[in-house]
Amino acid sequence: MPHDTPLIATIVAGLGLAFVFGALANRFRIPPLVGYLVAGVLVGPNTPGFVADAGLANELAEIGVILLMFGVGLHFSLKDLLSVRAIAVPGAIVQIGFATALGAGLAWMLGWSMGAGLVFGLALSVASTVVLLRALQERRLIESERGRIAVGWLIVEDLAMVLALVLLPALAGVLGGQEQTDAHASGLLSLPASYGIWGVVGITLAKVAAFVVVMLVVGRRVIPWILHYVAHTGSRELFRLAVLAIALGVAFGAAKLFGVSLALGAFFAGMIMSESELSHRAAEESLPLRDAFSVLFFVSVGMLFDPFSLISNGWPILATLAIIVIGKSLAAFVIVIAFGHPLATALMISASLAQIGEFSFILAELGVGLKLLPEQGRDLILAGAILSIVLNPLMFLAIDWMKPWLETRAARTAPPVEAKPVGPATEPGQVASVVATTNGEDGPPPRTSLTNHAILIGYGRVGSLVGASLKEATLPFLVIEDADKTLARLKADGIETVSGNAANAEVFAAANPEGAKRLILAIPNAFEAGQIVMRARAANPGINVIARAHSDAEVEHLKGLGADTVIMGEREIARGIVEEVFGQKPMLRPEAGEPSAA
Ligand code: AMP
Repeated sequence: MPHDTPLIATIVAGLGLAFVFGALANRFRIPPLVGYLVAGVLVGPNTPGFVADAGLANELAEIGVILLMFGVGLHFSLKDLLSVRAIAVPGAIVQIGFATALGAGLAWMLGWSMGAGLVFGLALSVASTVVLLRALQERRLIESERGRIAVGWLIVEDLAMVLALVLLPALAGVLGGQEQTDAHASGLLSLPASYGIWGVVGITLAKVAAFVVVMLVVGRRVIPWILHYVAHTGSRELFRLAVLAIALGVAFGAAKLFGVSLALGAFFAGMIMSESELSHRAAEESLPLRDAFSVLFFVSVGMLFDPFSLISNGWPILATLAIIVIGKSLAAFVIVIAFGHPLATALMISASLAQIGEFSFILAELGVGLKLLPEQGRDLILAGAILSIVLNPLMFLAIDWMKPWLETRAARTAPPVEAKPVGPATEPGQVASVVATTNGEDGPPPRTSLTNHAILIGYGRVGSLVGASLKEATLPFLVIEDADKTLARLKADGIETVSGNAANAEVFAAANPEGAKRLILAIPNAFEAGQIVMRARAANPGINVIARAHSDAEVEHLKGLGADTVIMGEREIARGIVEEVFGQKPMLRPEAGEPSAA
């Protein structure tokens, strides 16, 4: 190489190998993130061959965390956040307490100091943002009530960890470690021990509060103003840049100036941007970067792992893993049920929090640096993190499998648990013919009794108009839709609905495609639509498929997979405009094509 380029080498090796192993994992029906972790182990220092720069990989992973939390903020409103505080705050606190106690117990058995036990326990108590959000995104749960509880819970955990990171250096001396030295002081995050515990807690909370106030008062005015100003320049590139600059800038500023975590700062930036419809849509477009960086997160975790530690640390690793996967899950499950939430919610929350990640590594590093935690503790935390991240998708499979069994037991011993996963937007008293209220992760939704019907997928700008016409013509039809807000609207309109992602086999099967006459795809994503078309053709060769597209390539793609008719949105818009100009039905040139031309 002509010159040394560690950043480029790390990105290329990380993304390249992650792609290869992710694809391999997918081939064997293992979640791709296992492949990303393996790629990380291969480019890490513990295996021979190329070694990527661990420090750089870590920082790249942090960008992934920022963008992920920013994306979540975009889907969240302050109202959503406050609506789950009743469960998220006590839930997170009790779970942290329980996990910390278990961790401290294990530390005691290993003969460590009390301080070591505390750091170790805290590190085991906090779930990884990236793992949780990826799991929710995959199942399209972020905007469901359960998703909101999980995210709220995560934010409380995040706040608790911010507090722990600030307090530990100040308390290291008391806990039997080394008094804080400048080596561990990072910017304004650290406070002198002379303030005393309550002083440090008070100042930290004051800083977090100051950040929130600055965001709500200043950010709420300035951010939309900047975005609207940039929107008026008409430059899409500048607009995307503004969105990215604000997300990263707020996150970084929050961490440096207020001692709030990067993730939390980004979350607030997203939440404030979500208040304006214009910035909301545009901001979402600028998120593909997020996926690339969250892959680098898994690679950087893999890099830290030494496969040989599995042999030398056998039972303590198993015990650590049991605390993360079983102990934490049980605690979360009991709390969520105790607060009167349905079984499905409790299972989902337990599964999504049964892992540890980035915050645990930061705590472990800090603990070792302060001479509180023995090195063995860091190794256990790393091994526990890797194994729990790999096991996490299996946890979700396990809840699918356990749910029917638990439900029959619950039905026998207690009054039936109310199934209400649709979220607060749905009025409880309203009766409507919602067949299934599932997001596709708690067992198959009940099957419709309709036959010779139309299946309409998506009830947004396009689908709702189609639905209105079908309803007016009293044709039998049902809608598959996965957004909570839209589901509430369907319920209000009294339309039969299967809720969930139509690309999910079980959700789609609940719409009885075998017995249906017509499939209408009113969703914008042609890749997802293509998958559904294939599935429909396999189930029912005779079904008439009408799909929606936004480019000629998408039209080709969907026709190739078996759609009978593909309506190209932009062409129809042109048709409408021409009609307006000439006041008559337009004569579109042949190459512009009839939308239904085969
Ligand atoms: P619009 O682009 O405004 O017509 O909205 C599209 C609608 O389709 C939105 O309400 C989405 O929630 C919904 N949607 C998109 N993808 C899926 C999917 N895979 N399964 C079910 N509904 C979907």
